[in-house]
This record gives sequence, structure tokens and C-alpha cells, in this order.
Amino acid sequence: MGFDMNCIVGHVDEELICPICTDVLEEPVQSSQCEHAYCRACIDKWMLQKQICPVDRSALLASHLVPVSRLMRNMLGRLKMKCTFSQSGCTQMLALEEFRTHVAACEHNPKVVVECSKGCGMKIPKDEMSRHNCVFELREVVETVVKEVSDLKQKVTDLEAQSSSQRRELELFQYYIAALRSTNPVLRNIGEQLDRFSLMQWGNGLRLATVNSWGSLISTPDSPMHLMVRNVLRASGCPMHMLNMMVDHCHEDRWPEGLMTLDDRRENQRRMSQYVTRLVPGLVTGKPCVVVLAGDNTHMPENLRPSLGLVMIFVDGVDERAQQPWPDTEFV
Ligand SMILES: [Zn+2]
Ligand SMILES: [Zn+2]
Ligand SMILES: [Zn+2]
Ligand SMILES: [Zn+2]
Repeated sequence: MGFDMNCIVGHVDEELICPICTDVLEEPVQSSQCEHAYCRACIDKWMLQKQICPVDRSALLASHLVPVSRLMRNMLGRLKMKCTFSQSGCTQMLALEEFRTHVAACEHNPKVVVECSKGCGMKIPKDEMSRHNCVFELREVVETVVKEVSDLKQKVTDLEAQSSSQRRELELFQYYIAALRSTNPVLRNIGEQLDRFSLMQWGNGLRLATVNSWGSLISTPDSPMHLMVRNVLRASGCPMHMLNMMVDHCHEDRWPEGLMTLDDRRENQRRMSQYVTRLVPGLVTGKPCVVVLAGDNTHMPENLRPSLGLVMIFVDGVDERAQQPWPDTEFV
């Protein structure tokens, strides 16, 4: 509020001085009634208390306040100021309107924020630099970050607990539905359609596969392989209530008629190459697994068509495939 008289160079006319702060007018306004001039900030603050001119006590309303005359603005514009930090060595001569910006950024201003030159890169007021200790400051930063990380970890743990309890609830719910379905034919029918749908939703996220060597198919997997299949299916997001069914369906006993024995498979080998197969991303040490889903394979003959889906494990000879699945019409 008002420019410091001590910084003004030369003589200042009486009328350029604010009657409230007694410094040089800053953003001046005047009363349209008595023509006394004041700093904008000074008179605003004054008028919170009194609605009179501080000089002659005449009535003063906010609507009386108008910009000062061009003459007064010219007189103010001709004033020169030295910097607040001239005693510290600043030699700048400033016009009124440059004064505030310069002082805030003046290199002689002890509160100017500078970057630590000792390597920590923190931004600190110049006058605190001599007391500044990089290690101490950085330790505080590290402590804050460590605290944040530990809070986040706690949150993750809480969320995991929450999600595993929800998973258990969902599983129970699915058992319940399965029990209902086994006793009600209408529900059974709807349920099968939903199963087919949810398997295909999962399947659509899996890459297509090309089986190069049907000879390396493992048709009677042992229990460690069942476990491997369970793990890769679960990791790939196989619908939970279908998991047991799909794991069971990695053995030839549970495959469609045309796949059940080696002889069947030899006989149908040409047809088998027309399966749309999807690659289940394997664990690093695992064997390649593909799924054959009903929804992808409606073009297959009935004795080779899975009712919902089946899993095939191979020793090797499976690649990812880029192209789209066989159009269903092609083999009808
Ligand atoms: Zn003032
Ligand atoms: Zn007045
Ligand atoms: Zn300066
Ligand atoms: Zn530092």
C-alpha cells in the first residue's frame, strides 16, 4: 500500500502522497466529490470502517471513487525509485510500475528463491542457503516418501484382503447357482448359455494358436500337469466357476467322441487341423496349452465339437497365429 517514500529519488509533490499510508500513491483513485486521492488498497480498507473522506470528512461512497486525472498519472509516471536493496548493492533505477516486480526478483533480495548449487537441486530462499544442509533436507524428503510408500503398501494389502474375500463370496455364490441349476431344467438351459458366453468372453482375450504337430498332443496328462493347467487357466482369467470343468477337460476321457482314442484322432487328423485353437499364456516352464472353445468351433462336425470347451496340452509345436478364426460358414 503506497510506494516507500525513502526509495523515491528527488522531490515528491504533496498531492502525490496518500493521506492514509503517507507513502506515494499506488493504483490511485480519487473521490469525485472532494477530489482527494488515495491508494486503491488504502481507501478500500478505510471504507470498511468509515464512509467519509479521511482528509475533509465529507461523505464518501464506493460509487464516488474514480480514476485520478491524467495530469496526476503523468506526474506519478515521471517519478523514479531506487530498489529496496540499493544498500546491498542494487543500482537499478525504476519506474513506479516496475518497482514491485523488480524487488521480488532482485538478485540482492535475500528472500529470492534459488536452486541449491551443492547438488541437491532444492529451491530455497537465498538467505537460508548458508544454513542449508543437503543431506538433512534430502533425508526429510526421503522420510516423507518412505512414509507415503508404506501407506500405499498398507492400502494395497487392505485391497487384496478385500478382493480375496469377495472372490470367496463369488465362489460360494457360484456353487449355489450350480446347485440350483442341477435341480432345475430351465435354469440349466440358461446356465449353459451363460457358461458358453462367459467362456467366449475369456477366449476372445486369448491369442489364436496354430498347432504344427498334433503328434505331440498329451492326451492323458498326470496330476502335476492337471495342476499346471489349473494355474495357467487361472492366471489367464478363465471364469472361476468354469475352472474345474476346464481342468477336467484336459484329458481324453472328457473329450468329444472323435478325439477319445489315438485311433479316433488318427482317423480325424485332417479335420482336427480345422479347429480354432487359442493359446493359454504358459508359465515359463510349462508346456504349451491351447483351448478349443465351443463358441469358436461351431463349424466342426458333431463328434469333434466340444460342448463348452476343452484344453489340449502339447509337448511343443504350437505357435501364435495372427489371422482371424475360421469363418464358421466355411466348413458347414
Ligand atoms: Zn496509501
Ligand atoms: Zn476529501
Ligand atoms: Zn534491486
Ligand atoms: Zn542442497
